[in-house]
This record gives sequence, structure tokens and C-alpha cells, in this order.
Amino acid sequence: MCGIVAYIGNRDSVPILLEGLARLEYRGYDSAGIAVVSRSGDLRVRKVKGRVPELAADVPARLKGSPGIGHTRWATHGEPSDANAHPHSCGPIAIVHNGIIENAEELRAGLIAAGAKFSSQTDSEIFAHLIAAQFGIGSDSPAERAEPGDRGEAGDRGEPGEGAGRGEPVDLEEAVRRALKSVVGTYGLAVLDARHPDRLVVARNGSPVLLGIGDKEMFAASDVAALVRYTRQVVHLDDGEIATLHADGFRTSTLDARRTTKQAAVVEADVASYDADGHAHFMHKEIHEQPGVVERVLRGRLDDRFYTAHLGGLNLDPREARAIKRVKILGCGSAYYSGVLGAQLIEELARVPADAEPASEFRYRGPVIEEGTLYVGVSQSGETYDTLAAVQEVKRKGGHVLGVVNTVGSTIARGVDGGVYLHAGPEVSVTSTKTFTATATVFALLALHLARIHDLSPADGRRITDGLRKLPEQIAQILAMEEEIASLAKDLAHYPGMFFVGRVRGWPVAREGAQKLKEVSYLHAEAYPASELKHGPLALVGPELPTVAIVPDDELIEKNLATLGEIKARRGRVLVVGHSAPDGELADNVLAIPKNEHELDPILLSVPLQLLAYHAAVALGNDVDRPRNLAKSVTVE
Ligand code: GLU
Repeated sequence: MCGIVAYIGNRDSVPILLEGLARLEYRGYDSAGIAVVSRSGDLRVRKVKGRVPELAADVPARLKGSPGIGHTRWATHGEPSDANAHPHSCGPIAIVHNGIIENAEELRAGLIAAGAKFSSQTDSEIFAHLIAAQFGIGSDSPAERAEPGDRGEAGDRGEPGEGAGRGEPVDLEEAVRRALKSVVGTYGLAVLDARHPDRLVVARNGSPVLLGIGDKEMFAASDVAALVRYTRQVVHLDDGEIATLHADGFRTSTLDARRTTKQAAVVEADVASYDADGHAHFMHKEIHEQPGVVERVLRGRLDDRFYTAHLGGLNLDPREARAIKRVKILGCGSAYYSGVLGAQLIEELARVPADAEPASEFRYRGPVIEEGTLYVGVSQSGETYDTLAAVQEVKRKGGHVLGVVNTVGSTIARGVDGGVYLHAGPEVSVTSTKTFTATATVFALLALHLARIHDLSPADGRRITDGLRKLPEQIAQILAMEEEIASLAKDLAHYPGMFFVGRVRGWPVAREGAQKLKEVSYLHAEAYPASELKHGPLALVGPELPTVAIVPDDELIEKNLATLGEIKARRGRVLVVGHSAPDGELADNVLAIPKNEHELDPILLSVPLQLLAYHAAVALGNDVDRPRNLAKSVTVE
């Protein structure tokens, strides 16, 4: 589920591949590699366990050529090692793969029985052998001796009707197509054949692949981040599509060889978004981008005549919006927590029952799809596999789904009935910050929109539109508290873990706060509804376990203060994140942030917790942008 980059054209592919892989580093990976058809026509593969700079150091300066393919790997089958790193090759064929082959055992056994020799433990190597076998290479067959750099017979230019072995004349695209027929699983795949340096083949099923169109050169990648330096013209492949790339163009078709026509889209990605821009980490940069991001989310969407919100892409007329009886939000990780926050906002403002559920659970539990329910899939990348599968499950059963997505043109964005883009700009840090806040703000807009169609008064509508307008400035005020938060974080980072508690509006804030801390500091962090503390977890409270308590100044403040009393009675250290310092000895530390409308406060309360997690991780010396064991866009199950 990590990264793929491919290039074909007149330039030397090596620096392009290395640069592209470096742009994908943010997604998290354990090894990296490239395969290039050298100027003398040989297939050359370099791959290492480790980082892209280590790979770059391993590539000899004299290695130049095109086409080339590159990969950052996130191990699923076989430990991270040089041998298991991609590309994998068999004779002149080299492949890189993102995803998982589910019937790997069976295919591998069949290939071994036919004489194939594997040099890794990966499932992905199967592709190299399966494709090579279509040419009679790699197993017991007359063409077995094909070596890297073997350019094949004269005249074997790989058109249909030519080729070698098994009496099955094929070109590279057809060989890939045939190989894919026996594979069950997900793939983003790029393939080259050193005998045919005029082409590359890519294919997609469940793992993103997009093509980049240049001037007499073509690119392919799993993520637009790898392409924006070279081209803005991209084509998104759909699942079940395969493409052959030549320097001067491409053609696409389905797995059963029906030609497809594709529209190129222009990506508006800003190259600067992929630079840390003087910040020590992307996470830091992205936290600080939030005032501008929220301003962009709101731009053109607030209506001061009717005190409502306009969301152009919802594709719901007022009658359909009125008919909504329930809202169900689906997402994974922070997207799920932003959904919990969003559901709370929708139910509170629109008085429509709303809840959020992890998409990864929803898709497997045979959910009942109810008429009158509006389903909303949330995914920063728009490629999260579990969320995509949940969205498809709803659609398959006839439900209406919206997408709340950051990446324009992504798979979820293209597969929903309507939706809202975050316009948060690319998020490079693995852990999400600005897209959490942007998603929460989008839910506030959706809540307002539905509320004003249901029964929220114009006066309350105005209260919310005014409140939304204050968010950017108030976020900036919170960011100005960074020094204070950093010193608290440094102090708290030395405890073995932390509790996060909140009630009702504070509850999703507590959950996302704990999630952030876990992700980047690796401290144990547990979120609990404050109301549940005495029903169990209070047993853990003591001087060893500090509590971060979300205490907004709302109608539940007395209840929250009572909870603090229970914690203090057990000598637990308390950090209050709220609007004012509680009287008496209820808190050891207080982060008092600007107050907005009650309904919108959770959006602001989440921001100091991002800085808390960030500075705790920095204090512990962690790799903040690439936390261990995590990847940015989880395109596998
Ligand atoms: N399943 C493959 C492997 O373990 C590909 C992993 C990836 O997507 O990076 O090598």
C-alpha cells in the first residue's frame, strides 16, 4: 500500500524515480527500489531495506536509462529486507506492486511446480513469474534462458501475434492481462520488459494508479505527490483497468480487453505543499496551516441571507434533504473521530439522529441500509480501502452516499452520489491534523445546511454562521499558545501514558486527542467518556497516570468539574483543556482557549491536543512525520 512511480521518455528515469519516491516517503514504508532499462538495454535493479536516500546512495552514478519503475514498500508478506524489497524480476520482466495477492500460496506453489525460482518471500514476486511465464520465461520452457537485458528475437516487438513460448503469442499488455486473470487480490502494478523499452504497462485493482502526461514522456504513480513536479495533467485509472504507456501517449482497456476512454484532469496541487517550508516537520507546518485551511473550507459556502450553508456538490434538493431521517458517517482512524464529532453536530443542530461507525467494521457486519438515511464516507486521501468498501456496500444496496474527501478526483470522490471537498491542500504528515479540522468544519456546514432545512431558527442559523467565521482567528490564537503547550507536553511525555476524558461535545475531542498522542508519541493513551470514569477506569487513576480533561464552558461544566474532583481525590494529575480555570484545586494545569458557540467549540478544543501530541513526540525524539507502523493512506484492508 505504499508507493509506485514509473517513467518512460527521453530523459534519464533514475533521478525522476528517486525524486518521486522521496515525495511518497510521507506515506510510510520500510524499503525502496528501482528497476531501469539501462542505455545498453539491460534490466538493472537496485533495492534496499531502508530509506530513499539509502537507495539513492546505492544507485551507481553511471546507471541511466528509461523506462524505469520505482517502489516504496510496506511489508505485508515477508519481513522488510533487501530481497523482499521491490522491484521483483524474472528474466527481462520487472514489476512493482502495491497491495496484496490473496491466493498467493496457491499461485506460488503452481509456479514452483512449473520450475519458477523465487528469490523473495513476497506475494508480489508472483506477478513477475506469472507475466514472464506468458512468454515462456522462468519456468520449464524453451525460452527459459532469457536473461536480464535479453532483447528477444529480432522482430519480436511485442505486438499481438508475436512473442515467444508456449505457443501463446502475446505482447506485454496481453501478458499482464493474462497473468492478472489468475490473481485474486488488490494491486497497483507497474511492469516493464527490458526487451521492449518503448513501453510500460500499469494496472489497478483496489490500489490507486494514476498516469501523468508530459511532453513526449509519460509518468505513472500511486499518488499525485510523485507527479506534481513534472506534470499537472493526470488520468485516474479505475479498478480493473490496464494501461500501456509509450513516451508519446497511452491507451487504456479493461481486463477483458475492451478499450476505455479517459479524460485527463488538471491537478491543482501546489508544489510548495510538498515542502516543509522552514518547519521542522510537516505535522508542524500543517497544524499551523489550519486558520487558512478553515477559511478555505468556509469560502463561498456561508449564506447571510438565510443563515445557512451552501454545499454545491451535495446533489440533494431541499425536498430530498428534508426527507433525511438519519445520518450515518463512515470513516477510519481520525476520519472516524471527525465523523463522531460531525454526528454530534448534526444531531444537535439539525435534530436528525446521527452517528458514526468505523468503516472497517461496518463493511463486514452485513449492515441494514435504511431508506431515508444519508450515508457519508470520510477519507482524506479518498483511497482508504475500508472506507471505499463501506461506500460500495451502501451503494450496492441502493443507499445514498456522500463523500467528504480531500483529494480531488480520488476513488471515493468519484464513486459517491455527491460530496464536499475539503480543499485543505495535500496533507503530507502521516498523522492528520488540518484535514481533521477541515472535516469537522465541513460537518458543521452540513449540520447547518440540514438544520436550516429542518427546524433551526434563522437567529440560531446566524449564531452558527457568525461562529464559523470566527474559527480561523480563534485557531490562530490557539496556535499562539504553542510555547505553553510545548512545555506542558515535555513534562507529560515522561509519564507512561495518559487518560483523555470528555463529555458529549468533549467526547470526540478526547478520542481524537488520544489518537494523536498514540500515533506520534507512542505513549499509551486512552479516551473515556467522563461520565463512564466511575464505572470502571477510575481504578487506573493515580499519581502515575495524568488525565487530559476536555472541559468546555457549556451546560455540562458542573458534571465535568465533579469528574475532576474524583480524579483529584485519587491524586491524579489533571490538565484541563477548556475555556477557563476551574475554581479550587481541581486542575494542575489549564489551557484556556477562545470560546465560540457551544456547538462549534469541539473544533477548537481539538487544536491544542494536536500541539500537545506533536511536542510530546518531539520531546521523545520520534520521527513525527513518519510514525512507526503507520502509513498515510491505507489502501489495503
Ligand atoms: N504485498 C506486497 C509485499 O509485501 C506489497 C506491499 C506494498 O503494498 O508495499 O511486498
